[in-house]
Amino acid sequence: SYDELKKCTNNFSESNEIGSGGYGKVYRGMLSDGQVVAIKRAQHGSMQGGLEFKNEIEMLSRVHHKNLVGLVGFCFEQGEQMLVYEFMPNGALRESLSGRSGIHLDWKRRLRIALGSARGLAYLHELANPPIIHRDVKSTNILLDENLTAKVADFGLSKLVSDSSKGHVSTQVKGTLGYLDPEYYMTQQLTEKSDVYSFGVVMLELVTAKQPIEKGKYIVREVRMVMDKYDEEHYGLRDMIDSSIINTASLLGFGRFLELAMQCVEDSAADRPTMSEVVKTLETILHNDG
Ligand code: ADP
Repeated sequence: SYDELKKCTNNFSESNEIGSGGYGKVYRGMLSDGQVVAIKRAQHGSMQGGLEFKNEIEMLSRVHHKNLVGLVGFCFEQGEQMLVYEFMPNGALRESLSGRSGIHLDWKRRLRIALGSARGLAYLHELANPPIIHRDVKSTNILLDENLTAKVADFGLSKLVSDSSKGHVSTQVKGTLGYLDPEYYMTQQLTEKSDVYSFGVVMLELVTAKQPIEKGKYIVREVRMVMDKYDEEHYGLRDMIDSSIINTASLLGFGRFLELAMQCVEDSAADRPTMSEVVKTLETILHNDG
């Protein structure tokens, strides 16, 4: 359990805003012992934000893994709701892929980021009674630390799934468009395979640098069309790959990675690998083609 941080409004200045998300702003701050932290502050009076914050505290106090962002503490004071995390100086993966952070991620680094985040998610899925489904895996929720190690963040929508609740039909489908598992969307039955789908979309982003939906087109469909032709000609594949990494691996290396990504985004959850199978395959790819 975590100590509530006393007077956490003293730990940061409003001028140190580093981002804003669905439920409020994120600031860089420092604790009295000198530790640099990220402080997420719920928008005043955001009830939904409050629920998600409580959920996040409950989840993060159960998990400890080098590929999951660590919670340092929290405070709920005078209507303020704040969560304090270890600071991730290299920001969100999406920022780097969009060229906004000034950090170039080469192919080997991208493979490591994929493997790291896959290990974080596999850990959640393998937790004993009960496992956790993240439910909002996306490139803005994968943060990079000072060594560019990937850590999965944002457990506001995560769910504990006991055996009795597995496959339970929920009334509200949650997640982010472009990453949302179509089977979960249709059936409203949540399983670990929904995270696998979203992770597959992140893998496609890592190779193409494209966003999940660009100009109304879904990246999953775009890559599927190219992959269907892949056996005959390699040209289409070449066009899909982020130009800044195209010469850093063989087309075969990219092809193996894309094939795994496409298995993750299969329409039917039963056809997708488990997260720990994804980890094993990524380890092999990194070993052979990285
Ligand atoms: P969203 O709700 O859009 O998923 P968050 O509210 O979790 O986003 O975070 C918004 C932004 O703040 C992130 O995209 C990231 O740039 C930054 N951020 C969040 N957590 C941290 C952290 N621990 N360290 C550094 N930056 C962070």
